Amino acid sequence: MDCYNCGATLNRKTRSAEHILPRSIGGKRIAYNLLCKSCNEQFGRTIDNELASRLTRFYTLLNSGEPVLPATNVSGNRKDGKIALHEKFIARVKKNRSFAGSKDYFRAIAKICLNYYLSKGYPKQYCETIKAFIRSGTPDNIFQYYAPESVSIHQLSENEVSHVLHIHGNKQSGLLYAYIELFNMQNLIFIFSMEYDERDIDVTWCRDVITNADLTKDVQLHLTREQLEHPGMSSADMEERLFPRFERLLRIIQGR
Ligand SMILES: [Zn+2]
Repeated sequence: MDCYNCGATLNRKTRSAEHILPRSIGGKRIAYNLLCKSCNEQFGRTIDNELASRLTRFYTLLNSGEPVLPATNVSGNRKDGKIALHEKFIARVKKNRSFAGSKDYFRAIAKICLNYYLSKGYPKQYCETIKAFIRSGTPDNIFQYYAPESVSIHQLSENEVSHVLHIHGNKQSGLLYAYIELFNMQNLIFIFSMEYDERDIDVTWCRDVITNADLTKDVQLHLTREQLEHPGMSSADMEERLFPRFERLLRIIQGR
């Protein structure tokens, strides 16, 4: 087994406990066969930290406990059941109707998708493009927000807040991609390959962020090559459609 980032052989000394979903947003599941210690630490300091600086607050607010990671620029407390210490950040998102930050944020989300895919033992040869993106942020045409207007991808219960990961691979279409939702409001597609030629994959993992339990989830997502290559609307417009989901999350937090 080798580190998927640097290729170093993983043994008892070099392997690391990589959280498939970052601990900062409630991830508990660990895999030892993904990254070496050095790469794990490097990603932790950079891209994972960037993701935590945006998202940890929601995990903390939902669980009304102490922050799971003492991230330097995140303080997660509630005052009188209201969001108290994240007002600046939340006001900015509301003003811009956008969550998007640096490329590092998206690299960290891509890493979650790749972690999940590789932890399931699926073929590694289709991961070069997404690996390159995780390493360097290019090519950046492999991901897009995904928020179809009238299509329901899965059933979301009334006060559910969850992370959803879905991998779809189809030999006939040649498509291999991941769909991810974080807190049901950062919904993205990451393309792994357009030349997939192995057995079909349709696998979903859903983690309830409030109960910290896995949920059974049926994801209905059948994207065509055309949709992946030509999304039909800009990423900014697509993201705008996610804004009501961000508002939904705030409502749930305030109701707790
Ligand atoms: Zn490594």
